Amino acid sequence: MVLDDLGTSLRSSLDTLQGKTRLDEDDVEEIVKEIQRSLLSADVDVSLVMDLSDSIETRALEEEPPGGTTARDHVLKIVYEEMVELVGDSTALPLEPQTILLAGLQGSGKTTSAAKMAWWFSTKGLRPAVIQTDTFRPGAYDQAEQMADRAEVDFYGDPDADDPVEIAREGMEATADADVRIVDTAGRHALEDDLIAEIEEIEREVDPDRSLLVLDAAIGQGAKEQARQFEESIGIDGVVITKLDGTAKGGGALTAVNETGSSIAFLGSGETVQDIERFEPSGFISRLLGMGDLKQLSERVERAMQETQEEDDDWDPEDMLEGNFTLKDMKKQMDAMNRMGPLDQVMDMIPGLGGGMMDQLPDDAMDVTQDRMRKFERIMDSMTDEELENPRVVGQERTRRIARGSGTDEETVRQLLEQHSMMERTIEQFQGMGEGDMQRMMKKMGG
Ligand code: GDP
Repeated sequence: MVLDDLGTSLRSSLDTLQGKTRLDEDDVEEIVKEIQRSLLSADVDVSLVMDLSDSIETRALEEEPPGGTTARDHVLKIVYEEMVELVGDSTALPLEPQTILLAGLQGSGKTTSAAKMAWWFSTKGLRPAVIQTDTFRPGAYDQAEQMADRAEVDFYGDPDADDPVEIAREGMEATADADVRIVDTAGRHALEDDLIAEIEEIEREVDPDRSLLVLDAAIGQGAKEQARQFEESIGIDGVVITKLDGTAKGGGALTAVNETGSSIAFLGSGETVQDIERFEPSGFISRLLGMGDLKQLSERVERAMQETQEEDDDWDPEDMLEGNFTLKDMKKQMDAMNRMGPLDQVMDMIPGLGGGMMDQLPDDAMDVTQDRMRKFERIMDSMTDEELENPRVVGQERTRRIARGSGTDEETVRQLLEQHSMMERTIEQFQGMGEGDMQRMMKKMGG
């Protein structure tokens, strides 16, 4: 979506900083230009782009990187923090009983999103209900009822009534058993006064815990004005971006998020009720910047890791938290990955291996990578415990010995050591960020 291009171009400009310890103004300018180019081409509002790039530039030049941090990591951390700030640094929708009001123009995807969100809450063990108040669009009632049916959630609507506020009031009573009530409202083709007046009345009637603005990913510069108006009338707590399965880049939705000071709540990517995911800011941005989506990865890794650990009681993933990411840990990760199935799907989510690397590989490159993994395993089998615990002791002579013992070559041994220090650095970076993602992931895997 919106940020795919940004991710790719950012990663390549960050790579030019590899090995540098100090940043000069030219480096920063180059990166900031890259960010501006990608955001503008994704339709993000110009003044927002300028604000964002200004603060990245200022921080990159003024903030003193903590000792031992490379220039690349310093910039990466700043870009990460600024981007997370932009998309909203907290999850807009807690998993708890609540009433949610949906606002947006006609065709933005409100009715579809209402059913999708209800389905999503039902998979989390909450009992949702959809209340359809749209009396304006013919067919809205039938569509909402059908979708609620497909999502297997409670539904309230009244095809014969013509007062949306009345329907809302009765709907709230009729769905008193539900934990999460999602109130769908009518849209218009444009923001008209009567639309605003109607939604304000519904808002007063249902007194929602949260109001979400539903936006089609294809919306461009119009997003700002729309967001401002809804924000003024009912207050917007989060944005649902729909139709991300299309070609649209979604930049306008980011503008809306910024305009309302809210965050992205859900992403919709298809016409069926299951085509929805809850937006996870830190994971999304990490993945974008090629740092790997630790949260998503942790879910998939969890089981594989547990299986691996059951075979080896001495290995404690918590050790990685202490900053000791040894080759043994890396070997365990590789073992676990082998259990997870298609490598290319998993690779993208691994810190240090992820992101751009996969985009640049031809399709058949996966076999080579799989082959390289097998070589890495043989190399590690030829290493002593001391070397596995502390790879820094491996100098030229040991490299030669290990290459011979494993039937590989010295270059591959060096690649393995490089790969390990790259992963080690990534893990340290996450520890430094204090996001807690790594801790949570390790706890999960350890548990
Ligand atoms: P509303 O007028 O805001 O209630 O919009 P609807 O929910 O009726 O959606 C308008 C059209 O967009 C319908 O044809 C939906 O099937 C379609 N739609 C909604 N969300 C998505 C999505 O995430 N992906 C795709 N491809 N179509 C969507």
